[in-house]
Amino acid sequence: MANRYSFWSLLKHGLKHHETWQPAWRTPQLKPRYDVIIIGGGGHGLATAYYLAKNHGVKNVAVLEKGYLGGGNTARNTTIVRSNYLWDESAHLYEHALKLWEGLSQELNFNVMFSQRGVMNLGHTLQDMRDIERRVNANVLNGIDGVILSPKEIQDIVPLMDVSASTRFPVMGASYQPRGGVARHDAVAWGFARGASELGVDLIEQCEVTGMIIEDGRIKGVHTTQGDVFADRVGCVAAGSTSTLAKMAGVRLPLESHPLQAFVSESMKPCLDTVVMSNAVHGYVSQSDKGELVIGAGIDSYLGYGQRGSPHVIEHTAAAIIELFPSFSRVRLNRQWGGIVDVAPDACPIIGKSPVKGLYFNCGWGTGGFKATPGSGHVFAHTIANDAPHPLNAAFALDRFSTGHLIDEHGAAGVAH
Ligand SMILES: Cc1cc2nc3c(=O)[nH]c(=O)nc-3n(C[C@H](O)[C@H](O)[C@H](O)COP(=O)(O)OP(=O)(O)OC[C@H]3O[C@@H](n4cnc5c(N)ncnc54)[C@H](O)[C@@H]3O)c2cc1C
Repeated sequence: MANRYSFWSLLKHGLKHHETWQPAWRTPQLKPRYDVIIIGGGGHGLATAYYLAKNHGVKNVAVLEKGYLGGGNTARNTTIVRSNYLWDESAHLYEHALKLWEGLSQELNFNVMFSQRGVMNLGHTLQDMRDIERRVNANVLNGIDGVILSPKEIQDIVPLMDVSASTRFPVMGASYQPRGGVARHDAVAWGFARGASELGVDLIEQCEVTGMIIEDGRIKGVHTTQGDVFADRVGCVAAGSTSTLAKMAGVRLPLESHPLQAFVSESMKPCLDTVVMSNAVHGYVSQSDKGELVIGAGIDSYLGYGQRGSPHVIEHTAAAIIELFPSFSRVRLNRQWGGIVDVAPDACPIIGKSPVKGLYFNCGWGTGGFKATPGSGHVFAHTIANDAPHPLNAAFALDRFSTGHLIDEHGAAGVAH
């Protein structure tokens, strides 16, 4: 990858208190009309804008973000990337994303720090192991890497984990996807933002969409806190706020918005070089490049739009991780935060057209959409540019909730990620 900043230029900028850095993206004035408006400047919205400009030549695009770019779930997630989903439709979609991840730093000329350190899903019961075998076999049939590990093999990879038979939930085995891993969430947003901006996309921060302009069943534009903007095509990529936006258009989506929280510990020397997830114990952990343990679990059960969660979930999650890693009981926690995730009934996203012509939704990624960021943007850009789904997202249309063609990924979504 070409390096934009040499050591000497870094030193020069450092001595100048970073005042002469060239901004990574432009800060243009909002224009009155665009070909496409994307609502939501998270990873998915920015990736959509990037691929619209790059792959489809649609460059007169605005991304409208009510806060700052990447400040939603994109900046709040625990960055687990994997593609080992059970059903063909989702396996193909997430694998498409994983393949894009593998070349993303080169594509964007921005180091997204994608680290393929492997993702392990533990099994603690016979039923867990049957589910794991079924999923790994399905993955292998779909050309996705996956193996089943014995407790001994798990111990070899993660020596700190307690795999003894005396625990409350003894570890019986695990699925392992070696190509899975983690990435740097901010970098993904920034990389797509810079790439999109260079291609001519206007990124407008502090611009909240407050209403939709619809005439004769067709979208014409949106009301925003910076004035009205017009476009014949509008893509909504607003994660936990999607149902609020859908309501503005008179559309009801089968989504629930829940808080999802995570936390990190103090930094430590490297001690865990893979991602470990467990449904039964209900928690997951990885170690960031800074040395912090990155810990999370499932959603808070109540609905809400507050970007925080309840203390008992933290307590439960910490207990779960300590059950797996007793030595972590001595580690101090540093920070906790929450995001708002949009959960669909079958734990799969909704990507496609809406009943309003020209209005498209990309939502319902729930607790696991970070891993899909490049793939989601790639297929959504295709959908908007062609007014027709890409073959990989055709099955994720809204009408699956009326036709009954659900794609039940609750099992593979696992402890949510
Ligand atoms: C704690 C936590 C841990 C997670 N861990 C993982 C994980 O390990 N792996 C994984 O794959 N996924 C994970 N996820 C899920 C993942 O973060 C999301 O699925 C993904 O980031 C969604 O990206 P997005 O771009 O669609 O949404 P966001 O990044 O939330 O972007 C949506 C944007 O829309 C903006 N917006 C909303 N309303 C409006 C409006 N009216 N006008 C203008 N802008 C608006 C918001 O400000 C926001 O910036 C996790 C989520 C959380 C909260």
